[in-house]
Amino acid sequence: AKALGRANFQFFTEQLNRAVTERFQLEAKLRKAVASEEFELWYQPLFEPQGDVMAVCAVEALLRWRTIDGELVSPGEFIPLAEETGMIVQIGDWVIAEACRQLEKWHAGGLESLRIAINLSARQLRDKGLPLRVEQLMKQHGLGAGAIEFEITESSVMEEPTQAIAVLDALKASGASLSIDDFGTGYSSLSYLKLFPLDRLKIDRSFVSDIEHDANDAAIVGAAVSLAHNLGLRVVAEGVESATQLERLTHLGCDELQGYHLCRPLPAAAVERFLRDNPAP
Ligand code: C2E
Ligand code: CA
Ligand code: CA
Ligand code: CA
Repeated sequence: AKALGRANFQFFTEQLNRAVTERFQLEAKLRKAVASEEFELWYQPLFEPQGDVMAVCAVEALLRWRTIDGELVSPGEFIPLAEETGMIVQIGDWVIAEACRQLEKWHAGGLESLRIAINLSARQLRDKGLPLRVEQLMKQHGLGAGAIEFEITESSVMEEPTQAIAVLDALKASGASLSIDDFGTGYSSLSYLKLFPLDRLKIDRSFVSDIEHDANDAAIVGAAVSLAHNLGLRVVAEGVESATQLERLTHLGCDELQGYHLCRPLPAAAVERFLRDNPAP
């Protein structure tokens, strides 16, 4: 039993060593990526029903890491590490600047009413300098009120609510709009909804994926819609993967919809082509 214990222990330390080494290697690669800006933004449209058609009203910026070997890494694989190490602040600044630069181009090219949604992590909500940097970027790129929206999760806001409120109030004052992302998955109390200067609730995909079959999900979405509308907020449904889901969610009163069924995330040039081929009526 002792020998076996030792063998297990050795196995365990080998695994641990490997995990630690991999983490160090990833961290070193990510630091280089930050220094040489190996990132790109992909964009996924958000639609609103206009009569019988769905019109694009916004795009969400989604971060991608293109490594020097040309490999495309999705944010799920590096954002947690970027958050732990604090690198997310610098990466996040690059995301905001790039999104503003791109939106100015799109506005100048005839897509005047397009909005860009940008994801913010908890760490960025503790950055008191962020609102001023955002205000300067908006000014520099001629972006008016509501052109930029920040998506924040319930849990990231509740980590340090007092600090987050100060940052969110200042972001809002500089003309950005605010959306609660993944609504329904995080914090169990709804009281925070009146503490933050919100514009939209984005209902999490987990309530959408089974909405045709699960009456509870439909009830939850319906309740979220009336709660949001009573608070003067608009509702976005994410993760729409089928025509039936789209129909159900529209019927339940969702104001904006997003998901693979409508359009996948695309690189800037491809999403621009999509926007021109699908002009707002
Ligand atoms: P999220 O903000 O909830 O973004 C939605 C994710 O769902 C995206 O994954 C998107 O590609 C995917 N998605 C969109 N439509 C559908 C659908 O119909 N079905 C399914 N199954 N998935 C769909 P992605 O791009 O891999 O991003 C993952 C997460 O990484 C995001 O989740 C967000 O939390 C985070 N993230 C992305 N970009 C940034 C960023 O610039 N900064 C920060 N802090 N986080 C980011
Ligand atoms: Ca999001
Ligand atoms: Ca989301
Ligand atoms: Ca989600």
